[in-house]
Amino acid sequence: MNTENTRILKGDICYSTDKDTLITVENGYLVCENGISAGVFQKLPEAYMGLFVEDFTGHLIIPGLTDLHMHAPQYAFRGFKMDLELLDWLNSSAFPEEARYEDEEYARAAYSIFVNDLRKSGTTRGCFFATLHLPATEILMELLEESGLETMVGKVNMDRNCPDYLREKDAETSAALTLSWLERTAGKFQHTKPILTPRFIPACSDELMRRLADIQKSYGLPVQSHLSENPGEIAWVQELVPQSRFYGDAYDLFGLFGGDVPTIMAHCVHCLPEEMDLMEQRGVYIAHCPQSNANLTSGAAPVRAFLDRNMKVGLGSDIAGGTVLSIFRAMAESIQVSKLRARLTGDGLKPLSMQEAFFLGTKGGGSFFGNAGSFEAGYQCDALVLDESRIPHPQKLTLAERLERYIYLSGDDWILHKYVQGRKLF
Ligand SMILES: [Zn+2]
Repeated sequence: MNTENTRILKGDICYSTDKDTLITVENGYLVCENGISAGVFQKLPEAYMGLFVEDFTGHLIIPGLTDLHMHAPQYAFRGFKMDLELLDWLNSSAFPEEARYEDEEYARAAYSIFVNDLRKSGTTRGCFFATLHLPATEILMELLEESGLETMVGKVNMDRNCPDYLREKDAETSAALTLSWLERTAGKFQHTKPILTPRFIPACSDELMRRLADIQKSYGLPVQSHLSENPGEIAWVQELVPQSRFYGDAYDLFGLFGGDVPTIMAHCVHCLPEEMDLMEQRGVYIAHCPQSNANLTSGAAPVRAFLDRNMKVGLGSDIAGGTVLSIFRAMAESIQVSKLRARLTGDGLKPLSMQEAFFLGTKGGGSFFGNAGSFEAGYQCDALVLDESRIPHPQKLTLAERLERYIYLSGDDWILHKYVQGRKLF
């Protein structure tokens, strides 16, 4: 044991070991060695006696949250033009606004606002779309690296079905720019990794997908994209890739759908049973984005069905389909949306519980980064000390009740202290 690199946090500790199990330890000790959890203890083990304890008695301590899907450039235009469905919203809001990131000064200003807010939020890890612009994407990576968060960032690829002002000339150009981005950023960052980011099938030609698959193989990159979000989009994919059996198959035809390729697919609202079978088999991660599902009238993803199959699921804010960064809000909304789905469809899928939603926002999404999102021994020490001072209560509550209340009531930045891999951000 290296006592210099040992960190001990004392407080009311909550974490998930699986979707059905929430562990709560009142006045417990979380011990981190070299950024890795040595476990949570009711009594401090002899070996750690005499070491400095950061005493947060009376405060909840939980694992850091993971945002599995969001568009960093869209943070600047969240919360307007929300009365549209996906494809109209992309054309009238997302595309023209994203085009502004060609201007490095604008990109730096917008991304600084985003990263500053993200740093104060409960999110410790995230997978983010940037835009197709190289300098702006590099600026985002630099700012995220400075923030101390653990993130993956993707330069977006798009070579068809987008306006001229936001489209790469052809597949060759898009692939060449991607290689140039990977080379420019190689070895530059410790905590900010590249992730291959074909925007979605409608925006990527077959030739581009083939070239991206080659790049994926050479660099061993993870992949993020969108899947089965909106019925109109799904029908369009079928027209564009007629040989595909379903939307997910249009990625799989190019080898970009899980298996050896760590893959996140956002939304998955209208997945067919065969599509779910393939995702389950390939370990494809689902980024469930309940606020975006509601805002863009996409529907409500059948998260209960995913969980019953033990598929890999986490939560995403999907800014700016979603409007708030908070993964606490995404937890509450994942429950609310599942209840609406259950009542309106009568499909027999039981609504999500608080502990399931908490699992999705912590260990569910965190596991895309390896051992992250829990305090079990061997997990990365990402921890949040929560500020409940703005929601006082007269009665005695259990830790689980306090946690539930915090999930429903917290603001985006009600975090007292934040640690990532044992590093104290504040
Ligand atoms: Zn998205």
